[in-house]
Amino acid sequence: MEQTLIIFKPSAIERALVGKILSRFEQKGLTITGMKMMKLSEELLRQHYAHLVDRPFFPLILASMTASPVIVMVLKGVEAISVVRSLTGATNGRNAAPGTIRGDFSLSNQENLIHASSSPEDAEIEINRFFSPEEIFDRTPLLTPFIYSAQDNPPT
Ligand code: ADP
Repeated sequence: MEQTLIIFKPSAIERALVGKILSRFEQKGLTITGMKMMKLSEELLRQHYAHLVDRPFFPLILASMTASPVIVMVLKGVEAISVVRSLTGATNGRNAAPGTIRGDFSLSNQENLIHASSSPEDAEIEINRFFSPEEIFDRTPLLTPFIYSAQDNPPT
């Protein structure tokens, strides 16, 4: 079982798309293990987007990500990190495949609604960046035997 970090960016909050996006994750069978609303500081964003701080568009990222509070969430599931990235779609909403979250709801490279961890290493660092251990509820829903079969290696 993997856990992955999602951020509902200001574009999702202000466009009131949180419910629609969250429904997709729930319908897929992923489990929410943590969720809260918060304001992102410049310091936190410099850590989170460390790979982009030297890019010319970084000021745009800062402005966009601080335009409103965000909702941060942790989702759990078998191969949750790659599953959530597939549901999310390509970075630029104009190029993202129809059926993905960005493909269906975004027309922008920056205003692309959500962040989703890109690897198991990043997911662990990002979950620890935004959540304390007490804020994660590592639960196993009763419906798990109907979401996964034994060969999927679900939790017992
Ligand atoms: P992803 O969010 O798909 O993992 P990246 O890690 O490459 O993509 O970029 C992080 C975020 O930075 C993107 O989601 C987007 O909001 C922003 N971004 C990336 N590239 C650009 C760009 N060329 N112009 C504007 N914003 C960008």
